Amino acid sequence: MSGLADRYGRVATDLRVSLTDRCNLRCSYCMPAEGLDWLPGEEVLTDDEVVRLIRVGVEQLGIREVRFTGGEPLVRRGIVDIVGQVHAIDPDVEMSMTTNALGLTRVAASLASAGLHRVNVSLDTVDAETFGRITRRDRLPDVIAGLEAAAAAGLTPVKVNAVLLRGHNDDQAPQLLRWCLDRGYQLRIIEQMPLDAQHRWNREAMVTADETLERLEAAFALTPTGRPRGSAPAEEFLVDGGPATVGVIASVTRPFCGDCDRVRLTADGQVRNCLFAREESDLRTSLRAGASDEEIAQRWVVAMLGKRPGHGIDDESFLQPDRPMSAIGG
Ligand code: SAM
Repeated sequence: MSGLADRYGRVATDLRVSLTDRCNLRCSYCMPAEGLDWLPGEEVLTDDEVVRLIRVGVEQLGIREVRFTGGEPLVRRGIVDIVGQVHAIDPDVEMSMTTNALGLTRVAASLASAGLHRVNVSLDTVDAETFGRITRRDRLPDVIAGLEAAAAAGLTPVKVNAVLLRGHNDDQAPQLLRWCLDRGYQLRIIEQMPLDAQHRWNREAMVTADETLERLEAAFALTPTGRPRGSAPAEEFLVDGGPATVGVIASVTRPFCGDCDRVRLTADGQVRNCLFAREESDLRTSLRAGASDEEIAQRWVVAMLGKRPGHGIDDESFLQPDRPMSAIGG
């Protein structure tokens, strides 16, 4: 089998695995205050099912990177065991996690021992009042403690991902960068995408990468690192001559779909060939109906053939996917 190639010459080697659609924060740009209708328990893949699908991806389809996400992956009870089992499949597979860091103090060391390499922690502000307003939870100290635990456990480089929201934290980018530099974390600022459950995103309100750079440049000297971006989404800049860097991910204004090497597996076992895909391929039903590894791999290969050349946010015909970011896996 020749891996997860699409019709435009791209080959997916980076698998994003959502372990749950549930989250313990309620970021206003992601979901409503009351949360969402969570997936029924029986629809969510069991630990063994998740590991089996990852094994098929690694052993038969050329997956070389696995990133756990959600929802919030740390609310999944079997997380350390899942990481350990994936490590046992192939220790050379790069394993990382995108997390809000709540609870990381408890499990960072176990995750590192089980084989996790790195974490990306989502943190949009270091101002407690702004944090409470954006996430609707008063948990900034816990996130900061989680970050420290990640660094202490060697889950490095620790990256911090932030989304800027107009009127909330758009003026705080320099403050956040200074805070990250002082602690050795790599900040990446991501453009807000039309993936909110409330369907409130609008392009005019979105803080663009250019605007973010302008704000950062008012406080720091930024020089492009000159490193080719390849399939990595962040454009990287040296801060004040380096070696520290900051990244900007312009998913909307400077899309990088042509270099995309990702594929996603939702917590309920659906393959999505793009964050913005409108169709999914149901591997869970095949799995539970007794399909062989080869049959599952074949179905996955076919799923990739429908991958579109780009996300099309700027097209007249663009439709936001039915699933919000939290249910796809960010
Ligand atoms: N709970 C984990 C976390 O907080 O990192 C993983 C899931 S969360 C959906 C992953 C990332 O998606 C977070 O960094 C969050 O800020 C980001 N995110 C959520 N909605 C977004 C949107 N509409 N546009 C851009 N990023 C978004």
